[in-house]
Amino acid sequence: MKAIVFHEHGDTDKLALEEIPEPALGPNDCLIRVRAAGCNYNDIWARRGLPGVKIILPHVSGSDAAGEVIATGAEVQTVKDGDRVLVHPGLSCRICEACTSGNEVFCREFKIWGFQTGPNDGGYAEVARLPEVNLIPMPESLSFEEAASLPLVLETAWRMLVTRARIAPGQFVLIWGAAGGLGVMAIQICRLFNAIPIAVVSSAKKAELVARLGAAHVIDRKTEDLPARVREITDRRGVDIVFEHVGEATWEQSVAVLKWGGTLVVCGATTGFEARTDLRFLWNKQQNHLGSHLGTKAELLAALRFVETGQIKPVIDKVFPLAEAAAAQARIESDEAEGKLILVP
Ligand code: NDP
Repeated sequence: MKAIVFHEHGDTDKLALEEIPEPALGPNDCLIRVRAAGCNYNDIWARRGLPGVKIILPHVSGSDAAGEVIATGAEVQTVKDGDRVLVHPGLSCRICEACTSGNEVFCREFKIWGFQTGPNDGGYAEVARLPEVNLIPMPESLSFEEAASLPLVLETAWRMLVTRARIAPGQFVLIWGAAGGLGVMAIQICRLFNAIPIAVVSSAKKAELVARLGAAHVIDRKTEDLPARVREITDRRGVDIVFEHVGEATWEQSVAVLKWGGTLVVCGATTGFEARTDLRFLWNKQQNHLGSHLGTKAELLAALRFVETGQIKPVIDKVFPLAEAAAAQARIESDEAEGKLILVP
C-alpha cells in the first residue's frame, strides 16, 4: 500500500510517498480502507521530533481517519466488512483500573494512534489497522472527509470544556486560535452549552469564519488590545474559562484575563512549554489551572451525538491528495489554516 513515511526528523521534505506492507491483522484488530485522513499539529510535532516523547521510526503520521472496514480479526464481534467508520485515536490497555473506571487517558499504556504508535502505524496511508474498540460508526450525514476532520480535535475540545472546565450557561470563554482545528470545535461546544465564546484570531478572514460558527465576540490579536477588549466585553470581571493550547506566547495574558475563581484549561503549547505564571494570580484570584489530554471514547461518542443533530459541524479548510501531505502540513505550520486539513489516498 502507499503511505506517507518519514525515516528521520526534520522539515516537510522528510515526508515521502512510499510503498510499504499493509499492517498485519491481530485477533482484535480491523483493517480500514482509508478514504480520508485528518492532519493535526501532533503530526508536525512527530515529524520535527519532540523532547520526552518517543516517536517510533519509520513513522506514518495521522491520528484521524475515516473509511470502510476491509478485514476483521478472529475475535472481532461488533464490526464487519463494509462498515463506514471513523477512528477514536486513544489506545489503551482496556484492562487496568484507569481504563475500567472510564479514565482511559490515565492508563499507563495510553497512546495517541499515529503519533506514539509505530513503526508505520497511522492514518496517512491507504490502509490502517485499529483495534475494534477504536472504531465508531460514521454519522450518516457525513462525508469521509468530514468524518476524518473530527475525532481528535472534537474529543480534545469536549474534554477540555465539558469534563475538565465544566462549562455552564452564561460563562464567558476565551478561545485562543479560534479558527484552528481545536478552536472551531470549542466555539460550537460553547454555543451548545449556551456559553459566550470570545474568539481570538489573527486576520479578518478568520474573524468571518468564527463569527459564522457562533462566536459572540471576536478579537483580532494582531490589531487589538486583547486585555482591554476582554475587560470591555466582561464588564471588567474577566472570563470564566480560558481555552489554552498556544503556551508561552499567550500564557501570561491567559492568566491575567481570567476572572477570580476562573478556570484555565490547557492541552498544548504550540509556541513553547516554558510558560511563566505569577503565582499571586493563582492564589489571590483562586484560579483553577487544569491540564487536559485528548479524550475518552465515551467523550467522543457524547460529542458525536451533536454532530448527528447538526449542532456541531465539521470545518474543513482544504482537501489534498495523500501525496501532498507536505503541503497540508506546511499550511498548518504557516498558521493559514481555517479548520482542518484533510488528505485523500
Ligand atoms: P491549529 O494549527 O489548527 O491551530 C492553532 C492556532 O493557534 C492557530 O490557528 C493560531 O491562530 C493560533 N496561534 C498560533 N500562534 C499563536 C500565537 N503566537 N499567539 C496566539 N495564537 C497563536 O492547531 P490545533 O488547534 O489543532 O492544535 C493546537 C495545539 O494544541 C497544538 O500545539 C497541538 O499539538 C495541541 N493539541 C493537543 C492535544 C492533546 O490531546 N493534548 C490534542 C489536539 C491538539 P491565530 O493565528 O488565528 O490566532
